[in-house]
This record gives sequence, structure tokens and C-alpha cells, in this order.
Amino acid sequence: MKILVVEDEERVAHFIQKGLKEEGHAVDVSYDGEDGEFLGEINEYDLIILDLMLPKKNGITVCRELRERGISTPVLMLTARDSVEDKVRGLDAGADDYLPKPFAFEELLARVRALLRRQSESKSPILKVADLELDPISRRASRAGKNIRLTTKEYALLEYLMRNPGKVLSRTLIGEHVWDMNFDPESNVIDVYVSHLRNKVDKGFDPPLIHTLRGQGYILTDDAPPG
Ligand code: CA
Repeated sequence: MKILVVEDEERVAHFIQKGLKEEGHAVDVSYDGEDGEFLGEINEYDLIILDLMLPKKNGITVCRELRERGISTPVLMLTARDSVEDKVRGLDAGADDYLPKPFAFEELLARVRALLRRQSESKSPILKVADLELDPISRRASRAGKNIRLTTKEYALLEYLMRNPGKVLSRTLIGEHVWDMNFDPESNVIDVYVSHLRNKVDKGFDPPLIHTLRGQGYILTDDAPPG
């Protein structure tokens, strides 16, 4: 599993990183809130361990902003003390669990295991919007039971749209998630791929699922698109 640790105390960060690596996880470390939030947005982690008190941006704000951007990666919040207020603020901001410092590594590990298990159980194997289905394991798509052949990039784009049904996705967001952080949102690559996808997913089917919102981006929904 891929885990991000956001913790400004280097000693603690390295202790967590080392321990999780020994458990076989891939671990990135960030030492402040801004950088941590940036990494959490551009990379797909299975879990984020987030300290509450951080330079530049605190853990509560980082967590809330990640959630506002539709990132549902489980967050384990590290609080400096066993304060009910910190716990409530953390959970309100979208954290999944919290652990007061200082903690024994075994306890951290137990929380990490529980969150990763919950995460893999909650990931529904088949993504569905109306009669459009996508199986992330076999990477197959179908509409109304008919197979749809997709290129790797078309698949990635459709999976991203289907993991965010009913949400307006800007070109910038799509670029960052489906291409990479250096993607130029001014280029028309996304529009070209969306048009390919439409030909495969919507052409000859009803209702259309992929909608363009002028100046805003794209939305995948079987409802009438907003605006
Ligand atoms: Ca701290």
C-alpha cells in the first residue's frame, strides 16, 4: 500500500516511515501542511497519516481541503494530546480516525491496518452509472451489456469520471488525476479524449452520460446536468 506521512517532527516522521516500510508499504514523507496537501492531491495514496500541528497549514485545514476536492483517501490524524476538541475537529474535517501522541508503534500499526482493510472493503469492485459499468480489476467497460473497447488513457479518464459521478470536474483536476502534475490544462488533449469516450460510451445509447459544462469542465451523470 502507498502511504503519505505528513509530520513536521523529523524524528517521529522517520520512525513512522521506517516502521511502515518494514511492513512492506511504500511511504512518502512531507514536513509541512502545504506540501502534504499538494502530495495528497497529486498522488493516489491508500492512506494519509496527518499530524494536527503543522507549519504553513494545520492538519485540520489540510484534511478539510482534501475532502472538498473529492479526495476520499482515509486520513489518520495524529493529535498532540488526547483532547476531545481536537478529535471532534479532526473528525468534522473528514478524518477517519485519530491517534493521540505519544503512541506505541504497535498501536499506530493496528489503526493503519484497520483503515486499509476498511478502504479495500468499501471499494466496490464494479463502478456503475445508469447502465454503464466499469470493472477496475479486469479494466473492462460495458454499456447496456455491450462491451466497450477502451485505450489505456480512455480507460483512466472514464474511471476517474465514474469515481466522481455527478461532480463537475475541471480540466485542471482531470489533467492532474489522469495525466500528471505537469499537464498543461490549456491544451485540448482532454477534450479530444472526452470526444473519443463519448463516441464509445454515449453514441447510440440513451441518455447521454458525459456532459460538457462550458467554462467549467465535464460531468458524468444520468441526471440533467446543472446549469
Ligand atoms: Ca507537529
